[in-house]
Amino acid sequence: MASPFDQLRKILKHEARDGYRNRIVIGGMGRFADHWYRQARAVLKDQDPALLLHLETIYADLRRYEEADVEERRRLVEQIEARIQEALGPERATPRPAVPPPPAGETPSLPPPAAPSERPPGPEEVPRPSRGPARPKARAASPVPPKLAAKVEALGLEAPVHGIYGLGRERAQRLERLGVRTIRDLLYLFPRRYVDFRALKPIHRLRVGEEVTVIGEVMEIGSKQTGNGLTVIKALLTDGSGVIECTWFNQPYLLDRIQRGQFIVVSGRVDEFLGRPVFRSPEWEPADRELLHTARIVPIYPLTEGLTQRLMRTILKRVVDYWADRVEDPIPAWIREAYGFPDLPTALKQVHFPEDWGPLEQARRRLAFDEVFYLQIGLLELRRRWRSVPGRALSFDEAALERAIAALPFSLTNAQRRALAQILDDLRSGVPMNRLLQGEVGSGKTVVAALAAYAVFLAGAQSALMAPTEILAEQHYRNLIALAERWAAADLPTPTIRRLTSGVTGVERAQIYGELAEGTCHLVVGTHALIQEEVTFRDLAFVIIDEQQRFGVLQRAALRGKGYNPHVLVMTATPIPRTLALTLYGDLDLSVLDEMPPGRQPVLTRWLMPDERERAYAFIRRQVEQGHQAYIVCPLVEGSDKIEAKAAVEEYERLQREVFPDLKLGLLHGRMKPEEKEAVMRAFAQGELHILVATPVVEVGVDVPNATVILIEGADRFGLAQLHQFRGRVGRGPYPSYCLLLAESPSEAAIARLRAIETIYDGFQLAQKDLELRGPGDFLGTRQSGFPELRLADLTDLRLLEIAREAAEHLAERDPALQAPEHRRLAEQVARFWQGPAEPS
Ligand code: ADP
Ligand code: MG
Repeated sequence: MASPFDQLRKILKHEARDGYRNRIVIGGMGRFADHWYRQARAVLKDQDPALLLHLETIYADLRRYEEADVEERRRLVEQIEARIQEALGPERATPRPAVPPPPAGETPSLPPPAAPSERPPGPEEVPRPSRGPARPKARAASPVPPKLAAKVEALGLEAPVHGIYGLGRERAQRLERLGVRTIRDLLYLFPRRYVDFRALKPIHRLRVGEEVTVIGEVMEIGSKQTGNGLTVIKALLTDGSGVIECTWFNQPYLLDRIQRGQFIVVSGRVDEFLGRPVFRSPEWEPADRELLHTARIVPIYPLTEGLTQRLMRTILKRVVDYWADRVEDPIPAWIREAYGFPDLPTALKQVHFPEDWGPLEQARRRLAFDEVFYLQIGLLELRRRWRSVPGRALSFDEAALERAIAALPFSLTNAQRRALAQILDDLRSGVPMNRLLQGEVGSGKTVVAALAAYAVFLAGAQSALMAPTEILAEQHYRNLIALAERWAAADLPTPTIRRLTSGVTGVERAQIYGELAEGTCHLVVGTHALIQEEVTFRDLAFVIIDEQQRFGVLQRAALRGKGYNPHVLVMTATPIPRTLALTLYGDLDLSVLDEMPPGRQPVLTRWLMPDERERAYAFIRRQVEQGHQAYIVCPLVEGSDKIEAKAAVEEYERLQREVFPDLKLGLLHGRMKPEEKEAVMRAFAQGELHILVATPVVEVGVDVPNATVILIEGADRFGLAQLHQFRGRVGRGPYPSYCLLLAESPSEAAIARLRAIETIYDGFQLAQKDLELRGPGDFLGTRQSGFPELRLADLTDLRLLEIAREAAEHLAERDPALQAPEHRRLAEQVARFWQGPAEPS
């Protein structure tokens, strides 16, 4: 079983994303806490007692969750996350660093850090190299003790961080939980946000709630104990215009740091106590130094237990001051100049300690550019590699192909004609095709692929069509046979088409193997089984992969390298906004079917109120009485597919028993065996079932034109793209079709989605909207495997992606393999970027 911590993390992640509204687990977090705790105890009972201790504290936090307000919930979630990281230790918890550490063995480890006596004593802060008056422009001091300087210098950015003043091994280990091992990692540990403390105000003009900075003299400072054993430090500060009280909790050492008569700078949000403005736990620092925590745009870093903002800022200031200027900019100057990007040292300095919002924005844009630029260079390199091997230049009887098109029962849409022309150009070209054919469900991709395969057949070679499931393969097979019959009837050369699925066994299978090896079978349809070793082709020139929407770049490359070097066409029904297509499928050429065959009726979509459920059932019943079929999609259940399956079983039983006792219902969930799933889908496709009840995890990729209504429970939990996919299950025949949405208590964001799906019928428009509403991570569902992480780049920023693509293309023209000496750093960075270790799943 997955670690209970992982499960909890997942839920908390969703909870955070949902705005801490306690809606993610059914029954609320309190009940979940008990349940989770019992399970976790059972799983962890033989483990290290320390782990059990963590379990207890996490449970205590979870119990408090329901009563807490949103702010407090956010804090609890952060606290629990920190505890989990603590519990799991650095090995497991280290988030995937965008910049991987150098391979083991190449990193000579530094000797232990300086002896304790040389190390800074403060528990909280790192002493600065120079005390006394502010010297902001002084030359940056090395952030490592002199003893280590030579070594660190030699390792450069790859030096481990524990050599840095104030860090030591223990804190370095804590940093590792943030993915930081080297100085480079630190430079790339960007602030989560910033607070603008530049507004300086006299004390008598402070207003409650504003974020400001005050400079004043400490009139008094003292401490007292509270009832529960906390130390409170209280200081009175005056600037001549007024007096303000500042309090800090549980930082007794402040008594040694802040002296009466000292001038300090204090930044924070003005609070109120007994009608007077006060500062509670403000940032502060002596007024006679370069200001880091106050009176500027102050960075807020991601933290982990045992690291404070103050420490992080102090460390980063030293590292940035010293190292940023020593980082070589891998991006050639002509690219930077062309797009007006700052150089890398400037960008790094500004992203950590911005002078103003403008330079910060430029810095972030530059650093985001780096990510997508490396990404595009890698994609172009992949593309270059597969194009560098020779492909088959096919020539075929164009007139025969035109006649085959004319023999179709319909005329092609313009989009289909355009896509087909692009594909045929590839087939003729002598360069291996690697193309994505994108088009909504029902846009007619199959017929385009079939015509391309027909051209390949005319050229005397073979094609293979791969579908993700047996039932889809069957469906394609039947459609292709129907086409072949029309071609035969029109006196055209007719290909021999075979189906290779698990159902095909024994003599029949052996015979198909034989035909493929001899070349007498021209087009074979099947599942992944097709590319297995025992299958050999005489002359396979064209591979079509259907519905492969969740396929990583690297897997595709692996697939292509399976030994054949055929033309490859990947088909997907997921409408992918252009920005994502550029990113995820950036190594592919793109053809889009953006036009539906005429006569399609949009699926009438209605969002119903919960008390209209009975009406929805009555509506389904009427459709069934008219001879049609229906889908009912169960709610998404967070946690595990086991719980989800259980909920679906219960729903199925309830519907069968109480709502539709006289109808035939089928059930489909993720816990069923593939054969069971196939059997149910087949029964539904053949009209043996009236209603198919399914969990959302199951992609019902089957074409049942007789199904006219889909009811989606818990519709508020789904993204637009997914709702649209569900909706695409109906309206596939000539009958008017309907999509009914039920949502118990949708959030505002969910209401926006439900309204959008009611009114927008265009998949691309919905996909774009979805991407904007939810961000790329959610949009894609599962993380793309083998795909590098982007920290700053925003995948909805089409302009930036296009710039990166364009720059990468220019670069590829000049120096495709990045062999020029001036591109050495760049080549290193690209390799580093693409090597990011896989995220533990
Ligand atoms: P997709 O695979 O893109 O979801 P299909 O290729 O399965 O779509 O096509 C859906 C249906 O539309 C099929 O029954 C197909 O025969 C039909 N079809 C395809 N192209 C056209 C067209 N140009 N005009 C009318 N019907 C078409
Ligand atoms: Mg299809």
